[in-house]
Amino acid sequence: MSNTAELSEDLVRSTLATVRTPEGVALSVSPALSGVVVTAGKVYLSINIDPAQARAWEGVRAAAEDAVKAVPGVVSALVTLTAERKMAPPAPAPHAHGHGHGAPAPRGISVPGVASIIAVASGKGGVGKSTTSINLALALRDMGLKVGLLDADIYGPSVPRLSGVAQKPETTADGKTMIPLENFGLQLMSIGFLVEEETPMIWRGPMVMSAISQMLKEVKWGPLDVLVVDMPPGTGDAQLTMAQQVNLAGAVIVSTPQDLALIDARRGVAMFEKVNIPILGVVENMSHFICPHCGGRSDIFGHGGAHAEADKMGVPFLGEIPLNMRIREMSDAGLPIVVSDPQSPQAQAYRHVAEGVKAALDRVTAASKQAPRIVIE
Ligand code: ADP
Repeated sequence: MSNTAELSEDLVRSTLATVRTPEGVALSVSPALSGVVVTAGKVYLSINIDPAQARAWEGVRAAAEDAVKAVPGVVSALVTLTAERKMAPPAPAPHAHGHGHGAPAPRGISVPGVASIIAVASGKGGVGKSTTSINLALALRDMGLKVGLLDADIYGPSVPRLSGVAQKPETTADGKTMIPLENFGLQLMSIGFLVEEETPMIWRGPMVMSAISQMLKEVKWGPLDVLVVDMPPGTGDAQLTMAQQVNLAGAVIVSTPQDLALIDARRGVAMFEKVNIPILGVVENMSHFICPHCGGRSDIFGHGGAHAEADKMGVPFLGEIPLNMRIREMSDAGLPIVVSDPQSPQAQAYRHVAEGVKAALDRVTAASKQAPRIVIE
């Protein structure tokens, strides 16, 4: 068996998870990694940096070269530090409406009036992705951001139940655009608002995408700082298409600490990395159990698995949400815990996650604003 045949860009990228940038981020997910080319066992790689930081990056460059050379099948590896040429006037910031020359090309559907779209995803259903999405959206709102929540889990829309909103959205006067519903200061849209709950929905891949793109483009969102998208669970074609076709700023992966869920979470991370969407981080849901009677803590599924896994994959760990009866009860009552009991430790846990998401989002947004005009020095 020839190793060369298996040498792929993905394999090379994943090798770079072991190399850390001067900020301590895995190079595999760092926005500085700007180009990987693999041809006939030869690997060329460029790292785009601020020239003032060249000294700090030289070790990273050498380590990346060594790591790639050690991959079976690699004949030669060349890693270069590249810098963006200073341009005057500065490149216009990317904007939802048309994009000026020099701004990075959007990867897919962007939504007028929405600054950043983030996906909340899970490798499988039932891990608490939707519950995390709404509480994360609310915690971001509490940080002063204007936030929307799009329920793209069209196989099992849960935003109507979680938000306690059930009416049908109105359309604009021309009848072309739907006006999102609102509750708790969040703009909300879900396929569940449009069809009866009992309606059996059998979606094929292309239909999934067209429903989602409609809910992105034909809804009068905004102005919003962040649109949180509750993704369909899993890592199949529909999810991959969506990750590819929507201009996502980044993705949050929700997992439980169980080994099996972690395998799925890993697939989730890999799916987004494949289409170059930054992973904002991993959340461990149902992390530990706090007994409502005695306050004692039990690590039912073993705890810390997602943290360890995130470290291994070189992606941020955003925090732990306890397995807690009140989270479930409040969700089912349409009163997410961040709204119904904002001072509770459970709400605090979601707030901590939201802070990590915001920080990661700021990092990736800053990185993407520096339009890569790459010059090999
Ligand atoms: P998914 O979107 O991944 O399918 P949901 O968010 O719908 O998962 O959650 C599945 C079930 O688990 C729901 O009944 C929800 O209330 C419950 N749940 C989610 N997170 C927690 C938690 N941290 N503690 C207790 N119950 C939870």
